[in-house]
Amino acid sequence: MIEKSFDFVILGGGVSGLGFAKRVAENGKSVLVLEKEAIVGGLSRSIEYKGFYLDFCAHRFHTKNEKLLNEILTLPGLKMEKHIKKSRAYVFGKYCKYPFEVQDLLRAMPITKSIPAAFSFLWNMFKKRFTERPNLRSFEDWFAYIYGYKLYEVMAKHYTAKVWRHDPREISADWADQRLQGEDLVKLLKRIVRKIVTLDFRSYDLKDDSLAPDGGPFWYPLRGIQELPDAMARAASESGTEILTSARITRVDTKSRTVYYEHAGESHMAKYDKLISTIPLHTYYNLQDRRDPAVEKALSGLKYMDIIFVFLFLDIPRVSNDHWLYFHDKDIIFNRAVEFSNWSPVMCPPGKTSICFDITSFEGSPEWEMSDKDLIERTKSDAIKAGYIEAKHIEDALVTRIKYAYPFYDLDYKQKLDKIVSFLETPHECLLGRTGIFRYNNSDNSIEMGFELADKMLAGENASMHTYTVKAVSY
Ligand SMILES: Cc1cc2nc3c(=O)[nH]c(=O)nc-3n(C[C@H](O)[C@H](O)[C@H](O)COP(=O)(O)OP(=O)(O)OC[C@H]3O[C@@H](n4cnc5c(N)ncnc54)[C@H](O)[C@@H]3O)c2cc1C
Repeated sequence: MIEKSFDFVILGGGVSGLGFAKRVAENGKSVLVLEKEAIVGGLSRSIEYKGFYLDFCAHRFHTKNEKLLNEILTLPGLKMEKHIKKSRAYVFGKYCKYPFEVQDLLRAMPITKSIPAAFSFLWNMFKKRFTERPNLRSFEDWFAYIYGYKLYEVMAKHYTAKVWRHDPREISADWADQRLQGEDLVKLLKRIVRKIVTLDFRSYDLKDDSLAPDGGPFWYPLRGIQELPDAMARAASESGTEILTSARITRVDTKSRTVYYEHAGESHMAKYDKLISTIPLHTYYNLQDRRDPAVEKALSGLKYMDIIFVFLFLDIPRVSNDHWLYFHDKDIIFNRAVEFSNWSPVMCPPGKTSICFDITSFEGSPEWEMSDKDLIERTKSDAIKAGYIEAKHIEDALVTRIKYAYPFYDLDYKQKLDKIVSFLETPHECLLGRTGIFRYNNSDNSIEMGFELADKMLAGENASMHTYTVKAVSY
């Protein structure tokens, strides 16, 4: 058995672990990162397939934290291009701006729905001025409070149920708080009035560029998001971090502060002063030596959601100009479509394009059990039905499945999480990152969390990221 000692051992080489490693290594600490996959990056990694670069859905980098942005954009060897977000949603058989603009949506809706929805939205705005904010427990409470129940039904109810495979009444309002920025209603009203005054009622067509862009800027590398974790890993390594991929962790002994793992056919033990776990909570609990029935009960009720990606490869340069297209219709199997030729010209070979369709699922659910062949056939037929692609252009397809993709916030996830975190975290063991601490957040938040934890530990604090809040929502 090969034995070594480190100031920090990090379980998982996603962007949170790499951010933490970079920061502490730059401050002279010895660091080991153990990653189970053959490459670093975790959820923010990419794959190469027959000349195409593919992300898991596509990862835009965006943050309101200027210091963080500057540190990322100046990483040696990383070149990111600035984009303006373009996305639309397919609802009522039409493509509307996304995030929705109320006036677009009202026009796209059948009149029997649009009139009650308009009244519900206005009544809701009026009512809120004179009433106190109630306790918003579920996603449904949150959305209906912001937009009115009728618009909630159109804008969010079905899509949320489709994405999470749960009734939105069973999903915590925390998710909405973290995922969605409450619309600035004054801004929204100004936009509506401007559209009405200028009689701007154009048709909704996939090729119609005028509806987009609708969002803020973001950054993206040339050949997939993989270039970001790769650059972070390079920076951490240059400061002395040892990063081992294809590592199999077998045990964590918290009493002797030792991680046991296998790498390149050999058994190793690494002693640590502090251990940082960014891997799924259930996996970490099973690897470490302490046991508690109450924590096990809490863990059995806490779920991550899994995801399936169906990639289609087409013999045309472009299908639409959107970064994302959202499909609310529950009869369409996928939630979103991401066309990579819109992200960078070198993501696809010349004259070709590729699209990632994502299907959220829990292991064991009907979609998860479908064969790759059936998933491809269903995706193709739904995309053709929605008028998005034509069968004659599809050349090839690929299916990938990822476990632990989304922390699932049910109504009492917080109590369960508090119990688990307070048990697993000690002065020498700490949890970090979206997957590691079960926090629904973007990659910028994971990196920020890594830096923040590192800064606190370097200052000698016994820090925990359990209290980290997503300061700048970046979706
Ligand atoms: C479909 C989808 C789309 C997204 N889009 C965006 C976007 O557009 N923009 C954005 O900023 N963010 C996006 N995100 C979020 C982003 O991917 C995450 O916030 C970020 O990558 C999380 O990094 P992390 O290090 O916290 O966790 P992870 O990436 O989950 O890192 C955990 C690491 O631990 C490793 N690991 C697991 N088990 C073990 C084990 N037993 N031993 C060793 N290693 C192990 C994993 O392989 C992984 O590398 C998206 C996420 C998903 C799922």
